[in-house]
Amino acid sequence: MDTFVFHNPTKLIFGKGKLPALKEEVPVYGKKVLLVYGGGSIKRNGIYHETLQYLEEIDAEVLELAGVEPNPRLTTVQRGVEICKQEKVDFLLAVGGGSVIDATKAIAVGAKYDGNVWDIITKKVQPVDALPFGTVLTLAATGSEMNSGSVITNWETKEKLGWGTPLVYPKFSVLDPVHTFTVPRDQTVYGIVDMMSHALENYFSHSPNVPLQERMTESLLSTVIETAPKLLEDLENYEHRETIMFCGTMALNGMISQGMFGDWGTHGIEHAVSAVYDIPHGGGLAIIFPNWIRYNLDETTPKMKQLAVRVFNIDPAGKTDRQIAEEGIDQLRQFWSRIGAPSRLSDYGIDDSKLELMAQKAVDSGRVGRFKPLNKEDVLEILKMSL
Ligand code: NAP
Ligand code: FE
Repeated sequence: MDTFVFHNPTKLIFGKGKLPALKEEVPVYGKKVLLVYGGGSIKRNGIYHETLQYLEEIDAEVLELAGVEPNPRLTTVQRGVEICKQEKVDFLLAVGGGSVIDATKAIAVGAKYDGNVWDIITKKVQPVDALPFGTVLTLAATGSEMNSGSVITNWETKEKLGWGTPLVYPKFSVLDPVHTFTVPRDQTVYGIVDMMSHALENYFSHSPNVPLQERMTESLLSTVIETAPKLLEDLENYEHRETIMFCGTMALNGMISQGMFGDWGTHGIEHAVSAVYDIPHGGGLAIIFPNWIRYNLDETTPKMKQLAVRVFNIDPAGKTDRQIAEEGIDQLRQFWSRIGAPSRLSDYGIDDSKLELMAQKAVDSGRVGRFKPLNKEDVLEILKMSL
């Protein structure tokens, strides 16, 4: 293993009927609360009204930032930062999916910084302080509810960048699987692909001697593969929503990846695609990940073979390692197609006209991949395979 320090300070409050916990958790941090949410799903499913009710019961003074976009934008973050500075907000409460939480993380550091928050997202400036915030998760996917990462899009420069700091671990996150009942089928699928991709990004690692981490990751993937089709048949099934919600958090809260460095190149390429075409993150990952594994088979074969045998139950008898790995990739692709994920960029109407631009953006955003560092030509090839 690589050496590691594991410290995840987020308090996870999990289960049916846990929203009233806000009444104990929020007052710890102050009275003036900025409620951050997206395009209105929480108003339609009642979570907004319930949240406001609990905040009223503790006499919180509530301000609102509505309209955080999927693939949250810098301009919205900047509006939130302004509100925090002008109104002297004590605490942020993110109610939504990964986009709302990621925007809230950026607002939290921006509120304590005199310059433009983009300086922090582009890593020109190291943040030194952040407003405290909590989350109420409404969509199982990113793990943002229990990690210190965030992804923000600057739509003017067409950049979508990941950044993070331990300052933006949520103080607490309330996860009630019932809150995810209204997530539409397509977003449910994107979330499933995203959490599986987080597990896969970690799995492709050169860190030696990580047998437990690998088994935990395989176990998470097997659990998602077993549960996802059942959930998609019955979107309001509590047990299946509960299982998937817990898998989403565990895939990216640091627990299963201690002592190892994953690749994350596929996420880098997907961010470049989303920055240009604004497609759903999970949709982009479903298209790119199998092609990333296949393009890098010289390096990915040992891990992919292990995954093929242990997770996709492929019989290795009489086959070369590479054949087993390739069968595993086919199984992964087929699973994602079976649950309704896209498999080609053309599914989103993306043609070959901006492949160069996307490849350039991917390499401009920093190193693309750690397990297998990629240059622009490599990224271009993977994008071509994905057309
Ligand atoms: P999302 O962008 O937060 O939400 C997608 C859509 O789902 C929105 O239209 C939202 O509607 C809707 N929605 C959310 N909860 C719902 C509910 N309970 N019922 C009905 N509709 C609901 O999706 P996400 O996949 O969670 O987040 C994606 C973003 O996170 C991307 O920008 C991605 O790059 C980033 N990401 C971050 C991390 C991390 O660690 N921080 C990791 C991976 C990806 P409303 O807007 O109306 O609420
Ligand atoms: Fe992701």
